Amino acid sequence: MQSFYFTMKKRIAILGSTGSIGSQTLDVISSNNDIFEVEVLTAQSNADLLIKQAIKYQPNAVVIADENYYNHVKQSLSPHDIKVYTGSVSLEQIVEMNTIDMVLIALVGFAGLKPALNALHHQKPIALANKEVLVGAGELIMKTAKENNTCIIPVDSEHSAIFQCLHGEFYNKIERITITASGGPFWGRKSEDLQTVTPKQALNHPNWSMGNKVTVDSSTMMNKGLEMIEAKWLFGLSPSQIEISVHPQSIIHSLVHFEDGSIKAQMSLPDMHLPIQYALSYPHRLKNSYKRFSFSDYPSLTFFPPDTNTFRCLSIAYHAIERGGNIPCCMSSANEIAVEAFLSGQLPFLQIAEIVEKTMQQIFFVEKPSIEDCLFTDEESRLIAKTLITKQKSKICQ
Ligand code: NAD
Ligand code: MG
Repeated sequence: MQSFYFTMKKRIAILGSTGSIGSQTLDVISSNNDIFEVEVLTAQSNADLLIKQAIKYQPNAVVIADENYYNHVKQSLSPHDIKVYTGSVSLEQIVEMNTIDMVLIALVGFAGLKPALNALHHQKPIALANKEVLVGAGELIMKTAKENNTCIIPVDSEHSAIFQCLHGEFYNKIERITITASGGPFWGRKSEDLQTVTPKQALNHPNWSMGNKVTVDSSTMMNKGLEMIEAKWLFGLSPSQIEISVHPQSIIHSLVHFEDGSIKAQMSLPDMHLPIQYALSYPHRLKNSYKRFSFSDYPSLTFFPPDTNTFRCLSIAYHAIERGGNIPCCMSSANEIAVEAFLSGQLPFLQIAEIVEKTMQQIFFVEKPSIEDCLFTDEESRLIAKTLITKQKSKICQ
């Protein structure tokens, strides 16, 4: 019986429950409802889905971040005993509830930073999907987790793989890690082939079905850049210990190389339910019926060095990780703006990298950023990136 290890149900707050990771987390909870229960659900503006989820899972509270939808959510949930809150401050404060045992953060971008910090300050273990939080303020987040003796369990498949490989290896040093990358929908193409890429083409990922922002990041390979920085903070590594390898089948999710030359890898079919489930049930493994890997379906697993000339976002991320300070934060926030502009048809695909790079050149460098420095860098980077995009558009129109 699965609940053998668990004496009480684990009460989970899901920040970003209407998204790709959020809804898959609800699937995992549904399949293990003797072990987990939903305490909080939150969404930005998808009020109808939030209402549906709340009626099904009966959480203690929900937050609809966009205040325009508050009345609709409040009225729809009035027959139920569910508290309804709104606004970004509520999103930050909701994690303090003493009935929450774990906070799963599946927001997109810098928006997850304040709720993550607040959860750690209140000693709530975090299951972290929202990688931009560690890219934007990794040092602060890790320091806050340590000071509050609270753990951060990775949900991102590569980091979950490394985390799983490190189980039982507490005293053994990591020589280096290899983060695998699918290569995205444009792997094998050259810059000349990518000039006319449309949002629809960039959103067509070969192996994973994910939210729009992370899917575009996968197509530019900025996703791997963000993940490299995420790994640096989670596992205390230097940039030279992190290697990227393109592995188009997405079966080996990442590898850890130890000092004796041994290499551990974690393998499974590409399905985010597995790392989500592991983050919720850690250190236990729960039986499930997800499709299993078979060697006969994958007669060869292949690996290639990344093409940083074509996928310039990756070389920009190498620069950001080396430079450190507030530069990764700037890179990530500028990238959020550039991806938004690309998705709304205002910026050509190849100019995502250009906007990010130029923003990084213009930002004021802070070597040891405080929380205020991170917040300022985020705001300022968005402004610079938006100005650059407007200039770019007027150049194209001339
Ligand atoms: P998504 O766009 O599908 O969902 C995002 C969720 O967060 C939604 O519920 C949305 O309402 C909410 N949200 C977004 N912005 C918000 C804001 N400013 N304030 C409040 N709520 C907000 O995204 P996703 O694909 O689930 O990705 C979530 C995070 O997990 C990202 O950081 C992504 O990089 C990471 N991740 C995703 C996958 C995946 O398979 N989807 C895999 C690995 C890592
Ligand atoms: Mg990943």
